[in-house]
Amino acid sequence: MKAMVLRKIVNLTKTRNPLEFMDLPEPVPEKNEILVAVSACGVCHTELDEIEGRTAPPQFPIVLGHQVIGRIREMGNNVRKFRIGDRVGISWIHSACRKCKFCLEGNENLCERFEATGRDVNGGYAQYTTVPEEFAFSIPVLFSDLEAAPLLCAGAIGYRSLILTGMKDGETLGLIGFGASAHLVIKTVKHKYPGAKIFVFARSEDERNFAKGLGAIWTGDIEDESPEKLDCAIDTTPVWSAIVRALGNLRRGGRLVINAIRKEEVDKNLLLKLDYPHHLWFEKEIKSVANVTRKDVNDFLQLAAKIPVIPEVQEFRLQDANKALIELKERKIRGAKVLRID
Ligand SMILES: [Zn+2]
Ligand SMILES: [Zn+2]
Repeated sequence: MKAMVLRKIVNLTKTRNPLEFMDLPEPVPEKNEILVAVSACGVCHTELDEIEGRTAPPQFPIVLGHQVIGRIREMGNNVRKFRIGDRVGISWIHSACRKCKFCLEGNENLCERFEATGRDVNGGYAQYTTVPEEFAFSIPVLFSDLEAAPLLCAGAIGYRSLILTGMKDGETLGLIGFGASAHLVIKTVKHKYPGAKIFVFARSEDERNFAKGLGAIWTGDIEDESPEKLDCAIDTTPVWSAIVRALGNLRRGGRLVINAIRKEEVDKNLLLKLDYPHHLWFEKEIKSVANVTRKDVNDFLQLAAKIPVIPEVQEFRLQDANKALIELKERKIRGAKVLRID
């Protein structure tokens, strides 16, 4: 099968072609697994963290990609939930132990044996991939394959972030960074909390205009002071300055949720600017988001179909994955980038 493969950690400021287009043997589904013929795979910022080693794959070569849509081509023994030909999605959660305290409480995203699609096992930048059937999702018919792909991570983890803010209708929400995830969050908030006021902080003019078109009442740079104090904020940027500024923009008792698997190290020294009374006192909270649960993915897919939330998609061929990744690195973003795979 054709695949875009990562062979080693690379520095993306030095190479623009981190992935190699090559032939790999077609995977064989094991007991309880399905073999999926991939038709679309979303491109996520987490791939940059994998390629540059901030959350490194444990072995190489590895096929990245964790927003996978395809159809079942073969089934291992004991598969009961699906039939050959069914359309399914695969998200970042590829498996968890299902026995530990976290798994039993429904917090399988925190499982010590959590395995991530496209990092710990091969993912969707390929013609075929496998997944345990319990970790494959049915996709509402409303969405095309390309539209459905970004719902699986950008959408589902964005939704988890939104829930973790604890926001209520009528409150003020700051979105810091406006990529694939935030554009789905804003569409969800407009429906779920019609009285909410959304402020978007983004570096690029394009992202700010895009946010305005989707209903932000104010947009500015991530360094800007918010015109109104924020009840809650979601940070999807790779930088630390966003955290410092967002904490300053929070109201008393406000909560900042950081939706980033890793932060880059470049501006970490800015944390020394944290001023306790201004940034942290009055019971401000910071919470990170780690991974997703199957419930997050299923809940968001159902909600996205009901609202509906249709992602704005920019399409690339599988062999152009490097181009999509470099554009993401350089923040040339409008909506979600998705690979079409035949
Ligand atoms: Zn992702
Ligand atoms: Zn577990």
